[in-house]
Amino acid sequence: MRNEMKALVKAKPEQGLWMEHRPVPEIGPDDVLIRINKTGICGTDIHIWNWDEWAAKTVPVPLVTGHEFAGEIVELGRNVEGLALGQRCSGEGHLIGKLSRQSRAGKFHLDPATRGIGVNEQGAFAEYLRLPAFNVVPLPDAIDDEIGAILDPLGNAVHTALSFDLIGEDVLITGAGPIGIMAAAVARHVGARHVVITDVNQARLDLAAEVADVVPVNVTQTDLKSVIGDLKMKQGFDVGMEMSGNQAALDQIIEAMTMGGRIAMLGIPPGKSPVDWSRIVFKAITIKGVYGREIFETWYKMIAMLENGLDVRRVITHRFKVDEFEAGFAAMRSGLSGKVVLDWR
Ligand code: ZN
Repeated sequence: MRNEMKALVKAKPEQGLWMEHRPVPEIGPDDVLIRINKTGICGTDIHIWNWDEWAAKTVPVPLVTGHEFAGEIVELGRNVEGLALGQRCSGEGHLIGKLSRQSRAGKFHLDPATRGIGVNEQGAFAEYLRLPAFNVVPLPDAIDDEIGAILDPLGNAVHTALSFDLIGEDVLITGAGPIGIMAAAVARHVGARHVVITDVNQARLDLAAEVADVVPVNVTQTDLKSVIGDLKMKQGFDVGMEMSGNQAALDQIIEAMTMGGRIAMLGIPPGKSPVDWSRIVFKAITIKGVYGREIFETWYKMIAMLENGLDVRRVITHRFKVDEFEAGFAAMRSGLSGKVVLDWR
């Protein structure tokens, strides 16, 4: 094994990422070493590239970035059981504590001591990644490396989409970024009736319509009320998924809900957002905040759905060799891309 590797590093507290040579991580007795094959670029990585206020106060420098990956196990810690060298895998990027009430109850995704690879800890944009064996998710043959590399955001989409029963329901998704689009595909897959997705970016709406059988609505041109009429829905949407963090979208999703509607929120508003709580009360709306994925129930469900015909591949719009990472980040930063995947081999 070599002792040096290429890695995409936040090397300086300023805009950009830098390809550097770093030592291959040493693993502990409960860890595995994963050789990275493909990685996905996340919105989080764009915040880190841009070095915005959130990144500056969250991310230590220097740090190997990245948390969306697929690869294979090349080294096993001495306590590791049930995994083998050569096993293809992805993995949960949240490193959880084991002491909190939530963890001890098996609700690992709610552990307050969670740390994220590529955000707080050394990440996956590298030739090798150290990961606790606990976090490893083996990949079946049906899931290739590029899909494996986007299971982290697909997990956000699945976690959000499966927050409420969708069978036969009319679903509104505000925000047609990659996660919103994948959530639309999931809603369709599990049996929603109408799936409407909104955005102000026509390129993203076009991509949504390519990936899933959905009704794309550009809210700069079309009023949701007319969509509700066109689809002959009696009142409004049964289930909403807020994926944009945008104030106007928040207002629209609440306005478009039926009485007793349920909303799962993954989008993060930039700071405080005024809310007309009386509308939520009078419509008896349930709102659920969604963070990460359920560890490991969401992984189980999404792999099962992928094996059972859920197809999200077209959400990947750009593929680059890792040496062209700057082009990959430029595509992401344009706001016009779907998922961007980097090839490390
Ligand atoms: Zn991500």
